[in-house]
Amino acid sequence: MQEVALLLVLMLAVASGWLLGCRQRRCSKKDSGKRLPESYYRGLNYLLNEQPEQAMAMFLQALDDNSEAVDTHLALAKLFRARGDFTKATQIHQNLLARPNLETAEQLLVRFELASDYMAAGLFDRAERLLKELLIESSTDIRKKSLTLLLELYQREKDWPEAIKTARALLDMKDSSMESVIAQYLCEQAESFSQCGDEAAARLALRNALGHDSDCIRAHLLLAKTDIQAKKYKDAIKSLKQVKKKDDAYLAESLPILQACYQQLGQEKQFYEYLLECLNDGSLISSGFNASQAMRKESTKPEQLSQRIRDEAQQAPSLHGLRYLIDCQMYDAEGSSIHYLQSLREFVDQLIAVHPAYRCKQCGYQGKHLTWLCPSCQQWGTIRPSHTIE
Ligand SMILES: [Zn+2]
Repeated sequence: MQEVALLLVLMLAVASGWLLGCRQRRCSKKDSGKRLPESYYRGLNYLLNEQPEQAMAMFLQALDDNSEAVDTHLALAKLFRARGDFTKATQIHQNLLARPNLETAEQLLVRFELASDYMAAGLFDRAERLLKELLIESSTDIRKKSLTLLLELYQREKDWPEAIKTARALLDMKDSSMESVIAQYLCEQAESFSQCGDEAAARLALRNALGHDSDCIRAHLLLAKTDIQAKKYKDAIKSLKQVKKKDDAYLAESLPILQACYQQLGQEKQFYEYLLECLNDGSLISSGFNASQAMRKESTKPEQLSQRIRDEAQQAPSLHGLRYLIDCQMYDAEGSSIHYLQSLREFVDQLIAVHPAYRCKQCGYQGKHLTWLCPSCQQWGTIRPSHTIE
């Protein structure tokens, strides 16, 4: 942290020195005897004495007299904001806005930065008010930036109707990444409707979500859960089978619910056949789903099945594959071998249990539970099941 602070002050020292130097060169004909402000030299002195806070204050003072240094002031305010000093960042922006000769484009940019200060400081009401004003007054660039910041604000407040409206405005500005984001917001709404017992509204929201993003795994899973609540097990099975079709990495999320649906319909044999299908296309073992019980119960040809599992597990070595191989050995084992294999299996289960089951493909965040919004990088749909042991 100390190194970062020193780096920031150094950057500021260079920037302010350069700007003041430029200004001085412009004035040199009129005032050849004028030197850099005393505060700049005092700032350098503080920097040499490893006193970054005092150095920053001096450089800031040196820049204060320079009315042309808008960009440098903006950069400096950004540095203060990044360090969590929202008061100083806000002060710089307010000082800039007080200048009578500020150009319109600069004024809009400074107001956007001020809204960013309010956001960072958690003053959401002020940020929202300012951003909404900018939406009316601004050109495309600032308008898009304002919409993006508003989207973050509504997301943090879990105001899904406003978030959807804002994401749609961004979509109108050709930001196609908003399709999958809107689908996630609609899933959030659907979950709220379900909690209130409004099944029809939940179903409508999920259909809309799939309209925006037909690959939205979360919407397929939630739709299946809504169908199960209404005892529409056949419809639920259709939604759950979409999970494998859209992204088989999430297969294990659908299998326990699928098994429950088939059980309700008294069709466990069909579930076993579906597992075999998943085994044959290579998605079962990599999914990490523990299918051995269902397989053992239904299988009429354990030798062939065992060989298939062995082949699959050897192709993609993993703890889950090892567990399948142990299960295969247990088909033929007798006496003490069974106890030995059981102990080995328990040991592998323990290793699997301590391994984080989910990982964000964007930032590498790892967790034990599936969340649709990464708590680390705040991206939607980037957390995926992870069954590889590193
Ligand atoms: Zn992430």
